[in-house]
Amino acid sequence: MTELSILIFNNLTFSENLAFRFMLGFCWKNHQRYCPACKSRKFYSLADGRRRCRRCGYTFHDFSRRFLNRCSFSARQWLWFLKLFVLDVPLVSIAREMAISYATVLKAADTVRRAILAQALDASLIYEAGIWPGPGNPRSESEMVNSPVFGIIEINEVAICDLIQDLDVNDILRLKLNFCMKTGSVGQVVYTGPYKQYRGLVSCGPGLWPARYIRHDDKRLPVETSPFWAFTKQRLRQMRGVPASRFPLYLKECELRFNARHEDLIPILVKALCAFVPRLQK
Ligand SMILES: [Zn+2]
Repeated sequence: MTELSILIFNNLTFSENLAFRFMLGFCWKNHQRYCPACKSRKFYSLADGRRRCRRCGYTFHDFSRRFLNRCSFSARQWLWFLKLFVLDVPLVSIAREMAISYATVLKAADTVRRAILAQALDASLIYEAGIWPGPGNPRSESEMVNSPVFGIIEINEVAICDLIQDLDVNDILRLKLNFCMKTGSVGQVVYTGPYKQYRGLVSCGPGLWPARYIRHDDKRLPVETSPFWAFTKQRLRQMRGVPASRFPLYLKECELRFNARHEDLIPILVKALCAFVPRLQK
């Protein structure tokens, strides 16, 4: 993907039209539009610039049903937001620099993280575990208490955090208490010694901290020699407290930031934001 140096970025955000065209390039393959609801290529244009599907009647514009449609940002605002987000500028500062509300910035950051998660190979499993994919899907009635358990693999400097379906936080405690599996922690997040093909397991939630005598303070766990885990631990420490329901989002963000550390993240994130929000089958 293209590298967006600050000068190219400057040109791109020079006008809304240029920024919009840049985003649009990630939306439709070969400029071929289709109905986001039924995929039909037969539609007609409305006076207001939107299009209506001849088959299902759905009215849409270029960003309908895509992640970037969630915040009412212009294309230019999205690019600037991404630039600052990629540089790890605190969200409070982003709000100030962009002269938008903190609530909007929070929503934008959440949208980017959900767009990143949607690209993960195990996205459908993470949704099944109760993480909300994004607009167009019902919110689950109850907040997630404990995060699912992820296994960390690192091969050739590429990290993969796999959701492990048949384990939950109670299994981590069981492995610790009955099989002496080592556990360490960063804030509320607990990570473990090796398990099967994984360098370690990681999860988060009050279920991992049932009583004061259960501590997660073992030292020299093999996973700590992993550059990915060192990178992620550092970021988690800076966050000062991660709610279990958001932990999978942060983990997938770390995974992407680590794996793409030699690349420009902006085109990668624009591509993710321009994707359609997955719709779960009811
Ligand atoms: Zn349609």
